[in-house]
Amino acid sequence: MKRINMFYGLPDSFSPHYLLQSMTNTNTNDVEATVAQIMELIDAGADLVRVAVPGLKEVEALRKICRDVACRVSTIQKQIFVVADVHFLPEVAEKTASFVEKVRINPGNFASKDFETMALRAKSLFEICKRHDTIIRVGVNQGSLCDRIISRYGNTTEALVESALEWLKISEMYGFHKIVFSIKSSHVKTTMDANLLLYNKMVEMNKIYPFHLGVTEAANEMEGRVKSAIGIGGLLLHGIGNTFRVSLTENPVNEIYFSKILVGAIQDIKQNVYDNFSNGILNIHYPETSVEKWWAGVGALIGKWWLNNSIKEINIINPHFSFEEIKRLQDCVLQICNIKKTRTEIIACPSCGRTQYDIQAVLKEVKQRFSHYPHLKIAVMGCVVNGPGEMADADFGIVGSANDKVAVYKGKERISDFVSVQEALEILRNEGLRD
Ligand code: SF4
Repeated sequence: MKRINMFYGLPDSFSPHYLLQSMTNTNTNDVEATVAQIMELIDAGADLVRVAVPGLKEVEALRKICRDVACRVSTIQKQIFVVADVHFLPEVAEKTASFVEKVRINPGNFASKDFETMALRAKSLFEICKRHDTIIRVGVNQGSLCDRIISRYGNTTEALVESALEWLKISEMYGFHKIVFSIKSSHVKTTMDANLLLYNKMVEMNKIYPFHLGVTEAANEMEGRVKSAIGIGGLLLHGIGNTFRVSLTENPVNEIYFSKILVGAIQDIKQNVYDNFSNGILNIHYPETSVEKWWAGVGALIGKWWLNNSIKEINIINPHFSFEEIKRLQDCVLQICNIKKTRTEIIACPSCGRTQYDIQAVLKEVKQRFSHYPHLKIAVMGCVVNGPGEMADADFGIVGSANDKVAVYKGKERISDFVSVQEALEILRNEGLRD
């Protein structure tokens, strides 16, 4: 049963009413566990929940999940979207499009030798979505741009935007307008620049489609929250964004908790002045007493200025926190903004139904052991399907495969078989990383 599609009844992008999104990290074939996690997310305040559909086998599982969620949600009177997250297999997108509210596709997976062939390949998906009133999210990701786009534009901000614009052209060719755009990168500034550029191009064309915002591989804890607050909050403060997801390598419910906190901080910032910026120096005096809301507000204010300026120095003042707590946040934002690196840049995907090892525990261990290399970037990724592409510029990576096994990457090269996590950590040590 499909529910009423209200997405286009959203207030304009200057409204604080954003749709909050998260994604399940249960095995999609485990219908009971996935439904339970969706319900938990709904209770926490999620408006959209994305579910990974790795292959045809999971299509039927998702159908049952949608049916079950629809029955349960109607009892608590809430509009909820289940979004199918599809990579690589256009036929999976087509099969789910008849019963989910939204299908997320990755343009990189429709890669073709030319635009016309790609448009033709996408035709039946558009026809099905039109017939069933299903939204398409065009999820462009820097880690999986197609070779045709990269050979023309390089792996650049322009390439990300051009990939999105190709899909805008295709959707209009087929008379389809229920389309949402997202452009993501693990580089916060690239994410922001690409969204701003796409938005400005849409303004020039006099047609603004909805945006979904997010920063990929933000990892966890303070760094993950602040990275997302900078990228997402900065764009929201410029009036860009209708839905967003704070990706965290944690229990997905934490993503919704922090999303709500971020919305609260954005509302504060819209009502008061907490910042001044001059000659590259940004001063932030956001006297919030709750620590996560403080992180969220500081992050959003940094994002607001970073979008159109070069920042040389950031000063944070808050009488409610100790010198050490302020310094910790300051070091964190200076690292994210590439002003001063004091530790290893550790990125991690939030995990999803494709993950088959305890990524949260491994991320914790990698952080504990290898955080003292400011010149290095280490990635912890959930699956071999998307992981290697999305961590392409990392110096080292641990990438999950099946059944608690992972592979170790050095740059783009895989340097191990599928091994246990402990063996992978040993391989990193043999590569010169010391605890
Ligand atoms: S990289 Fe992580 S979030 Fe992305 S598909 Fe793989 S497991 Fe899921």
